[in-house]
Amino acid sequence: MARIIDAPLLADRRLAGDGCELPGRPIDDAAKRGLAFTPEVKRETDALYEKVERLIPPFEWPAYAPLIAGINRLKREKNAIILAHNYMTSEIFFCVGDIRGDSLQLAREAANTNAKVIVQAGVHFMAETSKILAPEKTVLIPDLRAGCSLAASITGADVRLIKAKYPGVPVVTYVNTSAEVKAESDVTCTSSNAVQVCEWAAKEWGTDRVILIPDEFLAKNVAAMTDLKIIAWHGRCEVHERFTAEDIAEIRAAHPGVVVLAHPECPPEVMAASDYAGSTAALAAYVGKRQPGKVLLLTECSMSDNVAAASPRTDFIRPCNLCPHMKRISLANIYDALLEMKHKVEIPEEVRVRAKQAIDRMLALPKTEKPLDFEVGLPEAAVELV
Ligand code: SF4
Repeated sequence: MARIIDAPLLADRRLAGDGCELPGRPIDDAAKRGLAFTPEVKRETDALYEKVERLIPPFEWPAYAPLIAGINRLKREKNAIILAHNYMTSEIFFCVGDIRGDSLQLAREAANTNAKVIVQAGVHFMAETSKILAPEKTVLIPDLRAGCSLAASITGADVRLIKAKYPGVPVVTYVNTSAEVKAESDVTCTSSNAVQVCEWAAKEWGTDRVILIPDEFLAKNVAAMTDLKIIAWHGRCEVHERFTAEDIAEIRAAHPGVVVLAHPECPPEVMAASDYAGSTAALAAYVGKRQPGKVLLLTECSMSDNVAAASPRTDFIRPCNLCPHMKRISLANIYDALLEMKHKVEIPEEVRVRAKQAIDRMLALPKTEKPLDFEVGLPEAAVELV
């Protein structure tokens, strides 16, 4: 059976203010909404509990189950689906999520679903992406404050200034951005396809330079894998920027044989010290296929829980970096969002149409058989920071 081992060295260092505080258990949340753990609720949720029994102790389940049953009933009543990002806590990811995955997987599904209502169990830019692709549907975000440090790092006006400075150079924009920023861009990318999209854009525009915004580290990690000249912005993910090569050395010393997997939003020095790197989908696929004995996932720590639930033979060292924005989404506010049909995501049509063009270009690229890997151990590549 998989074990989740909180990494003590990292956790100790971070307890001073930004430690790994898991969201509170929903002890009173169900009762406040008039929901109780009845025999009927137990029957409805017993099969779901099997998916999370390694992560949620039996005595806590009666606090979760009424909300889970309530949400699943509301979904049926309102013809709604829940898109659950890999960074959602396990009770959301496994028990109410209908489509699960990384940004790219969720974006593709938002465009294809027949449901009338989409609840985005993720952050605001993801909900905007769903609305861009499915404007006829009602898209709800359970907490309007679920933002993203990368999305907040850049505005549409910034992109217009960058384009004025580099005329004729294509703008490739990471999906972790607002609709307004996407609307100013030529094509979007995710961490699954950033290298592929940059090389496609350079060929289409007949240039050897690409503007890749807003994640500075993703841009540097892409630059290491291609001969293109990359122009980058100084945005960073507040979760992944905190990992260091020293963290990895400490964990390797404490856990000999551990396999270190990194997300490409991590700094290049972290990628170089890791054994494998890729998007969240690629990391999950790596663990599922290779089933290493012990793994350190250098990404948001709820993902370790979710991958662990499906990988009983692997022990997970959890690095204690939670995304505070993702953690704003809870069973309680998903329930409220569906019950009251709030908070609806709206985008001005003129912005939506231009943003959709950038996303459509990405989605039209051939779908690779498996998520693209990032090479590790490469020398750091220079980028031009705007
Ligand atoms: S993990 Fe980083 S990139 Fe993802 S939503 Fe949180 S801040 Fe943004």
